[in-house]
Amino acid sequence: MEQERTIMQAINPLVLRECEAARVDPDAYWERAAEQLHWFRRWDRVFESNAPSFRWFVGGETNLAYNCLDYHVNRGWGGHAALVYANERGERRTFTYAQLRFEVSRVAAALRGMGVEKGDRVTIYMPVCPEALILMLATVRIGALHSVVFAGFGAGALAERVRASGSGLLFTADVTYRKGTDVPLKGLVDSALDLVPSVVKRVIVLNRKGEAVPMKAGRDIEWPEFLAHGEGHSGEHVPMESNEPAYILATSGTTAKPKLVVHTHGGYQVGIHHMGRICYGITPNDVWWATSDIGWVVGHSYIVYAPLLLGATSIAYEGALDHPGPDMLWRLVEEFGITAIFTSPTAVRLLMRYGDEPTRGADISSLNRIFCAGEVLNSPAWEWLQKQVLSDRIPVIDHWWQTETGGPMIGNPYGISMLPIKPGSAGIPLPGVEVEVMSMEGTPLPPGEKGILVVRRPIPSLTPTLWGEEERYGTDYWDRIPGVYFTGDAAHIDEDGYVWFAGRADEVIKIAAHRLGTVEVETAFMQHPAVAEAGVTGRPDELRGEVISAFVALKQGYEPSEELRRELLQTVRRELGPIAVIGELNFVDTLPKTRSGKIMRRVFKAVIQDRDPGDITTIEDEGSVEEARQAWRQMKAEMGQASAEGGR
Ligand code: AMP
Repeated sequence: MEQERTIMQAINPLVLRECEAARVDPDAYWERAAEQLHWFRRWDRVFESNAPSFRWFVGGETNLAYNCLDYHVNRGWGGHAALVYANERGERRTFTYAQLRFEVSRVAAALRGMGVEKGDRVTIYMPVCPEALILMLATVRIGALHSVVFAGFGAGALAERVRASGSGLLFTADVTYRKGTDVPLKGLVDSALDLVPSVVKRVIVLNRKGEAVPMKAGRDIEWPEFLAHGEGHSGEHVPMESNEPAYILATSGTTAKPKLVVHTHGGYQVGIHHMGRICYGITPNDVWWATSDIGWVVGHSYIVYAPLLLGATSIAYEGALDHPGPDMLWRLVEEFGITAIFTSPTAVRLLMRYGDEPTRGADISSLNRIFCAGEVLNSPAWEWLQKQVLSDRIPVIDHWWQTETGGPMIGNPYGISMLPIKPGSAGIPLPGVEVEVMSMEGTPLPPGEKGILVVRRPIPSLTPTLWGEEERYGTDYWDRIPGVYFTGDAAHIDEDGYVWFAGRADEVIKIAAHRLGTVEVETAFMQHPAVAEAGVTGRPDELRGEVISAFVALKQGYEPSEELRRELLQTVRRELGPIAVIGELNFVDTLPKTRSGKIMRRVFKAVIQDRDPGDITTIEDEGSVEEARQAWRQMKAEMGQASAEGGR
């Protein structure tokens, strides 16, 4: 109660009213949100708990894909641009709502012609291209489930995800475009399917280059032949009970055995549509660009589903954000009159490495807001984008969510009324979201005290289970601290109700009696103008329990030196005080990151403990592990030398 009161203090009346309404009667609040969407049959009950699982809008019938397309076409919005595809080679394709519905319906018929039925799983291992998005919508339209696997993953990761989903059909392409090269995909599919031989019966290949692709007779066919299977079949939608799954998706965690979240036709749809309105303020006039990939949940919810549910124009971009040049992002804004961008801190830090020169050449006056999620948007990166690049003309807004939550939970309710931005904070719990910071023992902590962020009550878009692993759902999320959803993130809530994330809870560094979040130390490093990115971990230390081992990447134009090292240590000490004891600082070119752009701090931990980093199938650049190892070896040698010299 105490905490709820403080959360409300900083909030303006419009937001306060909405938060209050949701808190007093959450069912009525979400019922109103559901009423904004089309249902074939109204629900009997709004919410039903069956701990640890739950159901939303029980008995209601809807279809996520139908509401993305047919609903708009039927209300006369068919001529509006729904999807704009662009890639780094300069190719563009645009689909209106009516055109997209036509294509989706055609593919839905072809899926039926291939024997796909309601409840079947289909793996999509394709780049962000129109055919992949059309397939997603077509699968959902007929009540089958897609399992999209990021097309940057290798054969092992793909095989595991195919096995876990039990997909009978797999869609792929010959190549994906990345930084000016054609990255082949089909060979990886063949290797993956050798590892799980009896699961996938048919492979469908989109041949983009028009060159011969090795095909396995009896299993593999090309896209036109697939489409021909639609002959004589219906592409009509299937009404789905609200709690029936629309898709499954592996979390971006790095465990060898992927966890597959389940997002539903009803609750998920209501959740992402509602947050699309109140968190992002998406309207039909928006030209909305989420720079993510369809392999991640952001791609599902905010490249494909929510922008279409809201009647907006969604940009789907294939390629690297800094190719052919670091100004690509801004040029695309100018070309399409993009009004809103949703990107990641890692993308901001990437652009920051190039400096602000590339940001000056394009007219970006159409743009009126930028959102960021995926990691903490460290205040120096926020400052650079907000002040230096955008001259404070439009807001840069951090917000927080997870694959499991389907859509945002902590943010700045831009769509209701913007609150003051506190750089480095992800914002407030959005209306309808009940969170708390607790100790590991489940004691609620007062404002300012760091603990685990937990969620007290499911929101409609929260995954209600894990595919095929009901028990693991309970043990991983609801039993860690009994009765609340365990996010796994360390955070504190300040006196104004803003949430500050400090990193994953199991990565907190304990120095003497203090607990430092990895993010706090990394942000402190970034206060120095030479630093583009930093990643830190705790190293065991006899005296203090742990000390900080830091890996730092510099901006263009800066070189590692002893002097710079000293300056950086001073910067951290100035920001965090003497408790932030840096054991060593290693300079590297690239930090190890997941393919979705998150710093992999456990790799640092393995490197400094001279052990194997374990499963790194989700890593972006395997060379970064060796680089960290080398930097660490050199550092150890220097430290050895220093202590030997000290002893002389
Ligand atoms: P994913 O499931 O891949 O979306 O990753 C979810 C995780 O990313 C969260 O549990 C956080 O650890 C991290 N994350 C996402 N957004 C933020 C943010 N705005 N600030 C801090 N951490 C974030």
